[in-house]
Amino acid sequence: MAYLHAREMLPRITSDWIAFIVAIVLIHIVVVYEVVVILPYIDEERTRTFWLHVAFGLFLYVSVITSFVRTIATNSTTRHMMLPSVLKPGWRFCSVCEANAPPRSKHCWMCDVCVLKRDHHCIFTGNCIGYNNQRYFINFLLYLAVGAFYCNFLNVDYTIETLGNINLLTLFTILLPMLSWVFGVAPAYTFAVAFISMVCLLGFLLVTGYLIYQLRNIYCGQTMWETASGTKDYNFGWRENMMEVFGQSYILAFFSPFVKSPLLGDGLEFKKKYNENVKDL
Ligand SMILES: [Zn+2]
Ligand SMILES: [Zn+2]
Repeated sequence: MAYLHAREMLPRITSDWIAFIVAIVLIHIVVVYEVVVILPYIDEERTRTFWLHVAFGLFLYVSVITSFVRTIATNSTTRHMMLPSVLKPGWRFCSVCEANAPPRSKHCWMCDVCVLKRDHHCIFTGNCIGYNNQRYFINFLLYLAVGAFYCNFLNVDYTIETLGNINLLTLFTILLPMLSWVFGVAPAYTFAVAFISMVCLLGFLLVTGYLIYQLRNIYCGQTMWETASGTKDYNFGWRENMMEVFGQSYILAFFSPFVKSPLLGDGLEFKKKYNENVKDL
């Protein structure tokens, strides 16, 4: 599996750059907040519990960053690939790339290239999610969801203590921290605590929701586009569908971006369930 050059990993358009930077900055603001504010609040004495939280937090942080880097560094595009000059059955000609493109691939206007088994373009990673990098993207969502849940669990007491008892005003401050700061309802520090709590809460809900949606598609052997169009040509049962995305060691690879788990194919050829329904996706 090929890796991209450093300049090819990074976003190519302004809106992607903004989302990419916002994601990285928010992740690091939350990490620093947990280490500097929350953990000392939970355990002033620095007992073994404190260091267990530090070790688990470090594991989550390293897993999130590694999954993120592997998602953007793994080449899921037709870039640097030798593609056949003859149009094979199920393939199509991409007039932008001026090359033949395999089944299940789609051209991405933001990445400016055809993407193998394209699922979707992710603005936060600034790259398309496709055949080779979807497993790392799932690892990224998984550890982000667990990390956000863990932060909410750690934050709850401190957030309630800082904002006061739960009432309409504190709910307003948590849900709309920016407005409550602007209107003078909350002082700057309360605003900061409410803002970070909201990032963790919304982050958990959004990431978990999207992770469930991705896993549902993988379970059914579909990309996002195939789900939308009702295409079920590549559904060979959950075990084979999982192997298609996560490789031979699919259970371990689901839980870790560090596991070596070669994919079964090359992203160019796919067997179809219904041969009578041959069509170019
Ligand atoms: Zn193309
Ligand atoms: Zn793309």
